[in-house]
Amino acid sequence: MRKIVIAGNWKMHKTLDEVTDFLHKISEWEDAFQHKCKIGIFPPSIYITIALQQLQNNNIFVGAQNVHDEDFGAFTGEISPQMLSSVNCKYSIVGHSERRHIFGEKDDFLNKKVRSLLANDQKVVLCIGEKEEQREEGKTEEVLENQLSQDLKKIKDQHMKDVMLAYEPVWAIGTGKTATPNTAQAAHKFVRDWLTDNFTEEIARDTTIMYGGSVKPKNIESLIVEEDIDGALIGGASLNIESFTKVIELAEKKSFK
Ligand code: PEP
Repeated sequence: MRKIVIAGNWKMHKTLDEVTDFLHKISEWEDAFQHKCKIGIFPPSIYITIALQQLQNNNIFVGAQNVHDEDFGAFTGEISPQMLSSVNCKYSIVGHSERRHIFGEKDDFLNKKVRSLLANDQKVVLCIGEKEEQREEGKTEEVLENQLSQDLKKIKDQHMKDVMLAYEPVWAIGTGKTATPNTAQAAHKFVRDWLTDNFTEEIARDTTIMYGGSVKPKNIESLIVEEDIDGALIGGASLNIESFTKVIELAEKKSFK
């Protein structure tokens, strides 16, 4: 059975004091709340080791929001898969729409990152999703297919157990507009069918596909009940301990009846 995953992407938010306070609160909450889903946070990279230390007795994973494909080198400002492994950080987001569209990261670079992470025994959360104009032009599936086929090029079947996907329509990220459950489900189903056609039925069945795009306590329940939605990657609502834990509690109630 696929694991439900709820993860928070903090983007470029929080000072050290705010991070420490959040980690303390989520650690206490997690001790008290017997959750069945997988919970994670992606803090700014400067706080990864602090988060790993503060959560060492909790069942919450900590990941990087971005990573380079090379292990070492003259790449000012970047961090590498090997560096993540060396601090025991085992997850990384690849291809977030802000990396694609603000920082201009292209699919061949994203594919190199995915391959390098997997070669370093890291787990990948690969984000894919269409822009508003692409959806309006009826190109959603074409965009998803292009991203998947390029970003997962040359990935072997046995490595897919370390890949999670996040369908994040760009028009829904940080905008307050959420895809309707039907719209999101249709995209997730398309992605799962693509996995069947390009990998195996078993891989398609077992791969977690999260939804991302203005997920909040008020909309998580209607999304999570959809057959192919296996969790959420959450930006804004993950910054606040009350809204993040509320989303997790509501998702759990609906998904493990
Ligand atoms: C995200 O950053 O991946 C995201 C989905 O953001 P938000 O929840 O704020 O739309």
